[in-house]
Amino acid sequence: MAALYNLTAHELSAMLSRQEISARELTESVIARIEAVEPKVRAYLTPTHDLARQQAAEVDERRARGDSLSPLAGIPLALKDILCTRGIRTTCASKILHNFVPPYDATVVSRLREAGAVCMGKVNLDEFAMGSSTENSAFGPSGNPWDVERVPGGSSGGSSAAVAAGEAIIAIGTDTGGSIRQPASFCGIVGLKPTYGRVSRYGLVAYASSLDQAGPMTRTVLDAAMVMNVISGKDPRDSTSVDLPVPDFTQACRPDVHGVRIGVPKEFFAQGVDTAVAQCVREAIETLCELGATAEECSLPSIEYCLAAYYIIAPAEASSNLARYDGVKYGHRSREWAGHIGLMEKTRAEGFGAEVKQRIMIGTYALSAGYYDAFYKRAQQVRTLIRRDFDRAFSQYDVLLTPTAPTTAFRIGEKADDPLAMKLADVCTLPANMAGIPGLSLPCGFIEGLPVGLQIYGKPYDEETLLRVAYTYEQATDWHTRRPAL
Ligand code: GLN
Repeated sequence: MAALYNLTAHELSAMLSRQEISARELTESVIARIEAVEPKVRAYLTPTHDLARQQAAEVDERRARGDSLSPLAGIPLALKDILCTRGIRTTCASKILHNFVPPYDATVVSRLREAGAVCMGKVNLDEFAMGSSTENSAFGPSGNPWDVERVPGGSSGGSSAAVAAGEAIIAIGTDTGGSIRQPASFCGIVGLKPTYGRVSRYGLVAYASSLDQAGPMTRTVLDAAMVMNVISGKDPRDSTSVDLPVPDFTQACRPDVHGVRIGVPKEFFAQGVDTAVAQCVREAIETLCELGATAEECSLPSIEYCLAAYYIIAPAEASSNLARYDGVKYGHRSREWAGHIGLMEKTRAEGFGAEVKQRIMIGTYALSAGYYDAFYKRAQQVRTLIRRDFDRAFSQYDVLLTPTAPTTAFRIGEKADDPLAMKLADVCTLPANMAGIPGLSLPCGFIEGLPVGLQIYGKPYDEETLLRVAYTYEQATDWHTRRPAL
């Protein structure tokens, strides 16, 4: 039998409920795996193995008592270290929060705790989720389990690496411009950015509040649906969370794409997209057509301006959100300073990394008097145009299919000195956040041993169609069954 740490949440959930295995056994299997491969993968910033053992024991006791349990009860989980966890250090991979222990749980976290998911620890990311490779982490980059000299993607690279390496069965990532989907693509797993408002942002440390969304990172589409069932829904603590009924997303996981209309936006296959990657995606589209869908080329003309507009809006929001790190109430405080302004200056100079500082400066500039109309306002206008492009496309198509990222995982250090090249890693994913629509990435092939991701865009709140199309493709292929040889 395959090692427990290599199975899916769905498989393990069935084994747990039949009492073929215990949550404790499963947790020990994952802990042993972490001990074996973590020196190479470096996914975890704060492991919580004692807590995991305790939570697993509780699940076993509840099961022995005959309590009815959630399908996620006993399933080992990794949390991106940007989600607040009560009593567990939450760093955002920043020196400025190296000692921050939140007094409360993010809603996503409390829902998973209540479901009985077993918290294996907090995992790496680019500082405050700004980046595409985890190289911006103040604690060093994680390695891609398929080739540890390469990046696992970012910013949720610790989450994708942990799931791909068997160091967790499921993970939560967050996505402001692609940070769930691009690392999922680089590590050969499934990542879903839900519709903006589908999942509560309470306790998710804000990067760009109008774009941020948390979501599942898993080995299979069905596992992603299981996580969505737990984390979705209205939260009175987040006024942007939407009061819509939460369907049973696992019901959407059935192999049926008959009559599904696929749009293939040509802008996502243009220059900069690796031809081998584009080829894998086109083959995936063909597979779906053989299974009963129809596909047609279409166009989203405003996408051309998406990257530029995103890199105004996201830094603008970040410059405002990150103003709270001043060394006064929590987090790092400089030891040497003069006066209260001096305290803030010194603290922020010491605490933030270069990328974060650059974004705060760009954002502050774009929002300042005289530049606001020229930059911020125009970027918001572009955002409206992008949303309209999608509205138009979705009046004709049920889903849009694109590559998730223009390339496979690049080498650690390869793009570190080229900020534009790094930002281009997100060209295919940014539009979902700008338009607020859901996007899912799943594996659709390998190039020279490295995974390729297929991205599926859907209508707002129609995660079910995304899951159904993804599931149908997944069941017709075997990419999701491969595991890296670590
Ligand atoms: N790489 C993009 C950025 O740096 C997106 C990051 C994200 O989605 N959090 O902003």
